Amino acid sequence: VKRVYAFGKDAQGNNVTEGDKDMKYILGGKGANLAEMAVIGLPVPPGFTITCQTCMEYANAGNTWPEGALDEINKYRQDLEERMGKRIGDADDPLLVSVRSGAPMSMPGMMDTVLNLGLNDESIKGLIKHTENPRFSWDSYRRFIQMFSNVVMGLDGDLFENAITTKKLVKGAKSDTDLTAEDLEELVAEFKQIFSDNVSAEDYPLLVVDGKVQFPQDPDTQLRLAIEAVFGSWNNPRATLYRKQNKIADDLGTAVNVQTMVFGNKGNTSATGVAFTRNAADGTNEFYGDYLVNAQGEDVVAGIRNTSPIAELKEVEGLQEAGRELEGIFGILENHYRDMMDIEFTIEQGKLWMLQTRVGKRTAAAALKIAIDMEKEGLITKEEAIQRVDPEQLDQLLHPQFDKNATYDVVARGLNASPGAAVGEAVFSAADAVEAKAEGRKTVLVRWETTPDDLAGMIAAEGILTSHGGKTSHAAVIARGMGAPCVCGVEALRIDAEKKEAAIAGTDIVIREGDMISIDGTTGILVLGAVDLVMPELTGDLDTILAWADEVRTLGIRANADNPADAQLSRDFGAEGIGLCRTEHMFLGDRKQIIQTFILNEDQEVREEAVAKLFEAQKGDFYGMFKAMDGLPVIVRLLDPPLHEFLESPRALDVEIAKLEATGGDAAVIAEKRALMEKIDSFAEQNPMLGLRGCRLGIVYPILPVMQVRAIATAMAELKKEGLDPKPEIMIPLVSTVNELAKLRAVAEQTIAEVEEAEGVKLEIPIGTMIELPRAAVTADEIGTKADFFSFGTNDLTQTTFGFSRDDVESEFVPQYLAEKILPYNPFATVDPGVAKLVKMGVELGHVGNPDITCGVCGEHGGDPDSVKIFHSIGLDYVSCSPYRVPLARLAAAQAAL
Ligand code: PEP
Ligand code: MG
Repeated sequence: VKRVYAFGKDAQGNNVTEGDKDMKYILGGKGANLAEMAVIGLPVPPGFTITCQTCMEYANAGNTWPEGALDEINKYRQDLEERMGKRIGDADDPLLVSVRSGAPMSMPGMMDTVLNLGLNDESIKGLIKHTENPRFSWDSYRRFIQMFSNVVMGLDGDLFENAITTKKLVKGAKSDTDLTAEDLEELVAEFKQIFSDNVSAEDYPLLVVDGKVQFPQDPDTQLRLAIEAVFGSWNNPRATLYRKQNKIADDLGTAVNVQTMVFGNKGNTSATGVAFTRNAADGTNEFYGDYLVNAQGEDVVAGIRNTSPIAELKEVEGLQEAGRELEGIFGILENHYRDMMDIEFTIEQGKLWMLQTRVGKRTAAAALKIAIDMEKEGLITKEEAIQRVDPEQLDQLLHPQFDKNATYDVVARGLNASPGAAVGEAVFSAADAVEAKAEGRKTVLVRWETTPDDLAGMIAAEGILTSHGGKTSHAAVIARGMGAPCVCGVEALRIDAEKKEAAIAGTDIVIREGDMISIDGTTGILVLGAVDLVMPELTGDLDTILAWADEVRTLGIRANADNPADAQLSRDFGAEGIGLCRTEHMFLGDRKQIIQTFILNEDQEVREEAVAKLFEAQKGDFYGMFKAMDGLPVIVRLLDPPLHEFLESPRALDVEIAKLEATGGDAAVIAEKRALMEKIDSFAEQNPMLGLRGCRLGIVYPILPVMQVRAIATAMAELKKEGLDPKPEIMIPLVSTVNELAKLRAVAEQTIAEVEEAEGVKLEIPIGTMIELPRAAVTADEIGTKADFFSFGTNDLTQTTFGFSRDDVESEFVPQYLAEKILPYNPFATVDPGVAKLVKMGVELGHVGNPDITCGVCGEHGGDPDSVKIFHSIGLDYVSCSPYRVPLARLAAAQAAL
């Protein structure tokens, strides 16, 4: 197997690149695109890429090298030295390299990088001689030791930062740049001492020289350890968490790119930056990004210094030409990749070098605008435009915004890095955000800047606020990817993370931990207190893409809604009907009292009175629902949950009784409560989800389905008389045998006939069932003979197929199952293949029983893009999901059809 691939030119200027952009599973995204850029003639510093497969083999063999790999790397290293006409570690004119990770999927900042590799006590002399710049040279060496120690050896970065701070104090230097070449040379010696003092000889016997650990001088050792560290970083906790979050497989591995160093820190005609070919926040066709003059590599991404906008590059003395070339390259890359690209570059003494490109991450709003603009520009087709938007991301657009009518004072401004608004308690560490989330409190994470270590906190928080860094800083990139609101670079914010507070410069305002704050990532503002939030509407670009999606999709989209407001919202979002109206949701509030009366009284008259009240209430509910959905189908499900869900908790009653007894309460009251508790206890079941619920309720208490069907039919009759076109359908839940359905169908038909008679209107009401039990799926041919439609309740079908309690297991053992890969993903979120097989069987057999049967899905999976694709392929007629997921399901259905 080939493990190493060259990229860039040779000494004669010939392109010797061996890979291309389609090899990202071998070379990683970075390596594949470096190769591609070299192939199309862009200026890429020469280097080579070690494959992702080598990383996995190394990891799987307990961190030992596959045979021959080191020799192959060595050969490519020598080849690179020949191409550059320089040797690594050379005392005269040394070659310096960077060693960077690069996985098949972008994982920004999650894995390790080492810069300036190849410096040692000999080659530093060569660097000084060649650059005639001792200060730059010593600074490069000290950066290398620091980075190598931290990244490769895992030493605490503070050891080095403290040494720098002390040096500055001693020398009276205000900032790093005030340190002289001599100061930096002294620091190098101190850093080497820190290295010797803190690296264990036991762990690294190879580094022991003269009985003591020494900073490695041999470039081969430096290179090998750095590559091993990058390989190892694939499995560091933050990378592992990021992969889980982003559904990236654990077995892809990372490639390692060893590349000739170019320097953005060689003075004022040198710079480094990151850019997008279009605005990554709103999609505007403009250059978007930041750069720093006289800075190296990670300084921009880390957000350590505040940056300048990329558009200004062309105006800066000594950088104009590189700036113009860069703008030309933006166009070349967009035309070549036919997408918005993200770029890292360095300008070394006026010469532009491309360090990376990849398809740029963008907000949902930007994704929509860019897709539509590129279609108009003729760069991509309509079908491609539909594919360019991630359905899951649309959620972002349905994120809250500040209410336009709200009044508030802006206390500070920063950059609008990721849109949407967030309200929460200020917290100053990722751990505090995670803890608050566990307690159900909403937070805004306030940091000087974020680092990959903050990831868990960024996920837990509602929004992210930083005082440093640009729109391409870590916080901004990650927040946009997650769809979390983010305001960054709020310079007025003086954060004291130790004390857990932040002062606003120029004011006497101090924000303390737990104080409510609001941020708006769309405008970049910070507000004290909680601002009212509102949900945005579907307009503009989203409407355009969804209209395109509707042209190509074949799967119908309905919504799960149980009140007229949600029904209207679903309709506005493009739902073509209601796939599930859960009538039990109509029995809450004051209605709960009525149903309790029904359940707890055996007196027939009291029961009938309660049912009469429920009839009136239900008729009103259905009237509103059918009216909102006039002309569209509304599937009403008859009562489904176990009855005790409507009752008080006997445990709470028990506590109450105990209290009354202890405080000498009224004996009559106590007796009454005890009687109630015993009555409620008599309804308790060991497995309520497998007990008296669903259609079984209607068979045991026929008065309930009769009441519900009468309410449906009467509401329909009233609307018809008003000249409207109501289209209710009746759904019988949790059927396991055709006989249940036959019995309840007869009850429903009889009741409908009575209402027709009484109201004098003809009522066509399809009657169907839910398929939520394995027995129903496998006998769907029989059940189909009695059903006009099937709706697959994949929540219960998942529960009953796995035998997993849907109310318990997601917090019990499913996390461990996911971690140990016993389950590839949560089957309650994305439909499991086994459950999908039952759905498929149900659809096929259902058509045997009734060739005209309509089949849909109404479980949570109906709003999950991956599941939508599976349902499309099974040949379902529609999916039904919660109102806010309707737009996303429309898009996912279109993508499935393409
Ligand atoms: C289902 O089981 O998938 C379903 C839609 O019904 P519910 O979630 O109400 O049990
Ligand atoms: Mg169900």
